[in-house]
Amino acid sequence: MESWLLTNEASVRIGVFIGLFVLVALIEYLFPRRVLTAHRVGRWFSNISIVVLSNVLARFIMPITTMAMAYLCQQNGWGILNTVSLPHWLEIVLAVVVFDLAIYLQHLMFHAVPILWRLHMVHHADPDVDVTTGTRFHPIEIILSLFIKLVMIYLLGPPLVAVLAFEIILNALAMFNHGNIALPLWLDRLLRLLLVTPDVHRVHHSILAEETNSNFGFNLSIWDRLFGTYCAQPKLGHRKVVLGVTKIKGAESVNLLSLLLIPFRSNPGSYAINRRWSDDES
Ligand SMILES: [Zn+2]
Ligand SMILES: [Zn+2]
Repeated sequence: MESWLLTNEASVRIGVFIGLFVLVALIEYLFPRRVLTAHRVGRWFSNISIVVLSNVLARFIMPITTMAMAYLCQQNGWGILNTVSLPHWLEIVLAVVVFDLAIYLQHLMFHAVPILWRLHMVHHADPDVDVTTGTRFHPIEIILSLFIKLVMIYLLGPPLVAVLAFEIILNALAMFNHGNIALPLWLDRLLRLLLVTPDVHRVHHSILAEETNSNFGFNLSIWDRLFGTYCAQPKLGHRKVVLGVTKIKGAESVNLLSLLLIPFRSNPGSYAINRRWSDDES
């Protein structure tokens, strides 16, 4: 099983990614939550191009995949879970939950540290939020995230299947919770007790700094509740809330080349941790 996973990891991930992308896009088309503000073709071209570019670059630059790292840890007895003996299912659940907490903390860090916020702005500058926003990250952010994941795997020593499961869950839920989907409100209320729903994550894409700096979770909603960063609804409601960041508008927020240059030339505005010294209030 494990050697099969190592050999077929890429095809499993790409297959699941495409299948879920089509599914969420279809649900968005049938049950949209908001009217999109930007032209879809140009936006989708840029958002899809940047995810392809980021992943190709990450493959070239990083010497090892997450699965190969987990395999190395297993063979050499590295990481906490390789030094204790727990039931296999419990190791998988523990690893997935710990990874999710790590992703929450990493996301918080990308908002708090000004230089990291410059990178993460590429994700937030999207004037609309839909299935393609879920994977729109600057290549440097993707490479840094991958590096952090490799360190986490080295420290934790998770089972291979947990690494693949987490990658798939993260990918699937990122597409789902960025989806421009009008879930029935009763279903949203039920799901958000445990998971990050589209309505929960949309608050995080609001142009208002206090709403942007809330709801950092990607999969489980418990971390935001536990650490006091949870915001239930946007002040203006889901149909009227303005999405994006204040300083990046129009073509700069959708053109592929502009997206790649955002960290180096755009005004980071007053969102990051240094906002108290900033004179450019949103
Ligand atoms: Zn964010
Ligand atoms: Zn997002």
